[in-house]
Amino acid sequence: MTDTYPTQPEASHFVNGAYVEDTAGAPLDVIYPATGEVIATLHEATPAIVEAALSAAEVAQKAWAALTGTERGRILRRAADLMRERNHPLSVLETRDTGKPYQETSVADATSGADALEYFGGLAGALTGEHIPLAGGDWAYTRREPLGVCVGIGAWNYPTQIACWKAAPALACGNAMVFKPSETTPLSALKVAEILHEAGLPPGLFNVVQGAGAVGAALVGDPRVAKVSLTGSVPTGRKVYAAAAEGIKNVTMELGGKSPLLIFDDADLDSAVSGAILGNFYSSGQVCSNGTRVFVQTGIKEPFLECLTARLESAVIGDPLEPETNFGPLVSARQIEIVEGYIAKAIEEGARLVTGGKRLNRNGFYLEPTVFADVTDDMTIAREEIFGPVMAVLDFETEEEAMARANATEFGLAAGVFTRDLTRAHRVVAGFEAGTCYINSYNDAPVEMPFGGSKLSGVGRENAKTAIEHYSQFKAVHVRMSPLEAPF
Ligand code: NDP
Repeated sequence: MTDTYPTQPEASHFVNGAYVEDTAGAPLDVIYPATGEVIATLHEATPAIVEAALSAAEVAQKAWAALTGTERGRILRRAADLMRERNHPLSVLETRDTGKPYQETSVADATSGADALEYFGGLAGALTGEHIPLAGGDWAYTRREPLGVCVGIGAWNYPTQIACWKAAPALACGNAMVFKPSETTPLSALKVAEILHEAGLPPGLFNVVQGAGAVGAALVGDPRVAKVSLTGSVPTGRKVYAAAAEGIKNVTMELGGKSPLLIFDDADLDSAVSGAILGNFYSSGQVCSNGTRVFVQTGIKEPFLECLTARLESAVIGDPLEPETNFGPLVSARQIEIVEGYIAKAIEEGARLVTGGKRLNRNGFYLEPTVFADVTDDMTIAREEIFGPVMAVLDFETEEEAMARANATEFGLAAGVFTRDLTRAHRVVAGFEAGTCYINSYNDAPVEMPFGGSKLSGVGRENAKTAIEHYSQFKAVHVRMSPLEAPF
């Protein structure tokens, strides 16, 4: 397969419109998850790099906000076109960075990033305030204004998508962004920056600085930063939210989940099994919204498990760059150890291992797609986010019981239902305590639809028109049309 981008970038960071390096920063090895090889070495951002990024962003934002939305949008839409043209090399790079199969990255990463750039590019010119008539001929108007400098911090599972989902609405609204990718997957955000600048984005408006949590914390704590958007785990979310609160900053928190998927015995079995597969094994299970608690009504439990096991046998596990591979490695040695720990715990606590559970005898961080049945609500794998290819199947008898158990979690990111009963589908979805729900489907994330969680899974929403509210603020202006009286 032709690989048009070298994995070693020109430099570690992209600041003020150009690649920059500071070798004083600690080295950061990038590992190809399919082999365990080092494919690039970058350096963490030093305080000098962080300062350069924030000051460039602060300066550039003012001129950017003074452009019309149409002018800003044109640049974003041009960037979307470039991303689509370069989908192949971008997808190969994403596969190298994350280990996700090319079969996925070529349709779900740069393409989804391009969708966000195109969508928010299209909306930019339509962003306005409103006119509000008041008593006595007075009136008020609102101006929709940007927040200023925004910080984006990403997880390692969807590095291109996360960078674009944050940058596109931020830039459309007239903000600047400093983005810190996960230290595990630092490569593709640099390409997003390159493409945005090639499309005409003025320097300083989208900066990428590399590093671990300390670099993220330095960005979040800076008084010049008006907003922080994090995609990450709940423990990190707590820290970042608390640090942002110190400066009364705006936040968007896209955090973890332990989402329920309810399969009623009137469901179309093949579709329900497809939903369970997509909601547990896509990206080797490293998807925040995964439906990892699969509640199956007892009437179809055995047919469901049989069909699922048969379908899993046809998974093509292997070199993620081969087009037919549809199940790749986990992202890192650390992640596979975490997931193996959960598998051991499930066996210890009495869950029945239906299939999988073992590492593959090959280089890289490969773990078999794993299914546990007879899982009960108190088991660790039914309560904690695993972030790996481990499905927990739980039995249920009635809708009422399933709903109570589905909602008995501190998370609230996503939830799904498979049934042929139309009224039940909508009743169940109305009862879910979750931000993103699916009926007879799972894990779709079109840019036109809001995405995000409730409860511990997050604050705010990404995508759709609602994201605009999270990257802009209203200034309200009262206009008096008659002489103003005062008591003295
Ligand atoms: P982490 O929470 O470990 O890290 C997320 C990001 O935050 C990383 O860039 C990390 O840096 C950074 N970070 C860590 N500590 C701090 C800090 N104190 N201040 C600022 N930044 C910090 O998540 P993972 O990368 O392990 O990703 C997996 C998690 O992300 C899962 O819980 C998953 O559910 C969630 N997720 C949520 C999504 C959603 O939209 N709701 C989508 C995708 C994933 P570094 O890792 O480089 O040290």
